[in-house]
Amino acid sequence: MTSLECIQADITTLEVDAIVNAANTSLLGGGGVDGAIHRKAGPQLLEECRAVRNRQGGCPTGEAVITGAGRLPAKFVIHAVGPVWRGTHPKTEELLASAYRHSLELAAANHVKSIAFPNISTGIYGFPKPRAAEIAIAEVTRFLETNSSIQQVLFVCFDEENFDIYKAMLGQA
Ligand code: ADP
Repeated sequence: MTSLECIQADITTLEVDAIVNAANTSLLGGGGVDGAIHRKAGPQLLEECRAVRNRQGGCPTGEAVITGAGRLPAKFVIHAVGPVWRGTHPKTEELLASAYRHSLELAAANHVKSIAFPNISTGIYGFPKPRAAEIAIAEVTRFLETNSSIQQVLFVCFDEENFDIYKAMLGQA
């Protein structure tokens, strides 16, 4: 049985097998959680992202790539690219679900047992937080129904608003 919970934390501090980065299609770093991850991981992470970019030309929206974690306590960073919010649209919602799904597929393929997600697309990309949480929880739950290799999934909330939303949706005290 996989444990699924939310915590309020800085994702760069977590000693899990994989942390997920809310990356952009360039894979060359940005603001928000992406900036925090690259700052703490050091230049090795950017080098690995550059190598992926040279090989496959970045990462399309809704997909993900995996690298080592540089100086972070995690073993891997999974760089997932969520959609930019441009109003309610089924395609945008599917792209957010897809970013979570591809991250989990990469995690399982790399024998990851514990994984931590930030609230993808809910910062600079402007996705409404309650709907993003609903999509994230539904997609992760669906994936875990058919894949039991991942033992722990953490939704890491940075801001109070997301933390309150996730606690309510997950029925956590
Ligand atoms: P996006 O461009 O996908 O919206 P952002 O990095 O702007 O990505 O925001 C995604 C989420 O990450 C936001 O909810 C933001 O509060 C959160 N965040 C920012 N810094 C951190 C951090 N160090 N650890 C965890 N979450 C973070």
